[in-house]
Amino acid sequence: MRQSRYFIQTMREIPSEAEVISHQLMLRAGMIKKVAAGIYDYLPLGLKVIRKVENIVRENMNKAGAVELLMSVVQPAELWQLSGRWNHFGKELLRFKDRGERDFCLGPTHEEVITDIVKSQVNSYKQMPVTLYQIQTKFRDEVRPRFGLMRGREFIMKDAYSFDIDDAGADISYQKMYDAYRSVFNACGLRHKVVDADTGAIGGSFSHEFMVLADTGEDAVMSCTKCDYSANIEKAQVVDNGEKETVELSPLEEVATPDKHTALEVAEFLGVDIKHVPKTMIIRCEGVMDGKEEKTIFVACMVRGDHEVNLTKVKNIVKAKSAEFAEHYEVQDMTGCAVGSLGPVNMPLKVYVDNALKYVSNIVVGANKESYHIKNVNLDRDAKIEGYFDIRNALSGDKCPLCGAEYEETRGIEVGHIFKLGTKYSESMGAKALDKNGKNIPIVMGCYGIGIGRTAASAIEQNYDESGIIWPKAVAPFEAVVVPVNTNDEEVIKKADEIYECLLNMGVDVLIDDRNERAGVKFNDADLIGYPLRVSVGKKTLSDGKVEVLIRRTKEVILIDADNSAAEKI
Ligand code: ATP
Ligand code: MG
Ligand code: MG
Ligand code: MG
Repeated sequence: MRQSRYFIQTMREIPSEAEVISHQLMLRAGMIKKVAAGIYDYLPLGLKVIRKVENIVRENMNKAGAVELLMSVVQPAELWQLSGRWNHFGKELLRFKDRGERDFCLGPTHEEVITDIVKSQVNSYKQMPVTLYQIQTKFRDEVRPRFGLMRGREFIMKDAYSFDIDDAGADISYQKMYDAYRSVFNACGLRHKVVDADTGAIGGSFSHEFMVLADTGEDAVMSCTKCDYSANIEKAQVVDNGEKETVELSPLEEVATPDKHTALEVAEFLGVDIKHVPKTMIIRCEGVMDGKEEKTIFVACMVRGDHEVNLTKVKNIVKAKSAEFAEHYEVQDMTGCAVGSLGPVNMPLKVYVDNALKYVSNIVVGANKESYHIKNVNLDRDAKIEGYFDIRNALSGDKCPLCGAEYEETRGIEVGHIFKLGTKYSESMGAKALDKNGKNIPIVMGCYGIGIGRTAASAIEQNYDESGIIWPKAVAPFEAVVVPVNTNDEEVIKKADEIYECLLNMGVDVLIDDRNERAGVKFNDADLIGYPLRVSVGKKTLSDGKVEVLIRRTKEVILIDADNSAAEKI
């Protein structure tokens, strides 16, 4: 590719809207352009990286025996009603009506659509196992789209779905995807870790997340200090639930809740949606109440979806592991105290809540009055929160379930996620097949996602320096750039062209920066964009029969003979 005919616009300034390095550098290198919050155009350089990641993913999916298809972006509400998720998915699901007032959504994920396909096409164990995948645009109306491609609203995902007649088969399909994911991230040149994950809102029986290790990662990775085991923060019994819903704030309402004791009972009785409530919450209160100094940690039991809460464990962790908490605070168990309890609303104490609670709106709390609760409590508005604290620090001392050693917390970026779903969707949507004995039974499923754009962005988070990006070769937009240094010197131009052509013929994905620009400008751009190799052809070195090769990662410079086989030596 000749840069004079290509489309690259770099920028010097650090764009103010970009908080993380990958976002800054992708904008500065002219790889993406913002269209709206969380929605980006992929400019040619950015698209090249996206395609490289896609191809690595595709190759490994095919190798694992998965079969590619392409499903529609627009999905009818009926399928989501059948699975039961139309009412439960929340605002991330972008819904709209067509001209005939029929409900549709933009696919945030494709379990419903794929299950419907398999339901209509597969009716016997003989047609399984089968794993189908696509690489396609998803839409999730994220509350806080940010960090460029890292957390977009419109983004490209590879999603795969496996179908087996029984559990044992499903486990094999799962393992194949697990192995394929490792190959994908290794091939992309990314340092990563596989963590045991909670199955969350999507449901299912077990799950792993693939985390690219980077200090700027949004996720905590809990790694055992002795063995190989790692878990995500939820699995390690911690509480961060993610995102704050933007909801209408309703007035407080005191309601009678006779004979309702557990959180679930109260929630059901009041008909409140508890899907977005964390599993456990921890509130720290301090101050003077009734003339008495109060320093209390409330461990409150929350229920989300159909999850079990291991409250005792959380309590013990708080007690045993956090020197700060256990020494100075009284720990109070608030199990069964309803959907949440902050004690009396407007309590005259300093109240700190763990980070996870920042995201919770319109909750129900105990009214401090028997058989009554208060609805529509919003922490910011009603509880006089003095601050938030990160409970994860307190909980990171939890023990490894395999060997009992301590955890160590590092940061990571969730680039891939695999789930064994079991029969959740096949049962609700009626996808059944005949087993060997002629019995019609629900198909056992798995689902497997990789964020393509997020993977590209995470490669930058792991590989950059003060001058710009340092692409791993496999996902670099170009593997090498040839820079004619003196653009008015015929011999230089000729040699640069020759090397460029030669590299092209050798199958190297190479760019020649043939712009009529100063060498400094070209070098700065090459460093910023981060091609793994830069070959500079300059008058000075050429007079000694040499060209210069710069290795971007190490900044090492090698002089090689500018003879006919120069390209081969590169
Ligand atoms: P997160 O916890 O970061 O919100 P998720 O758990 O909701 O991600 P999954 O439903 O597991 O995401 O989707 C599979 C993969 O899709 C993720 O592992 C991630 O790589 C990617 N992904 C999810 N949401 C986004 C997004 N908003 N922007 C870019 N990639 C995303
Ligand atoms: Mg998400
Ligand atoms: Mg996640
Ligand atoms: Mg996930």
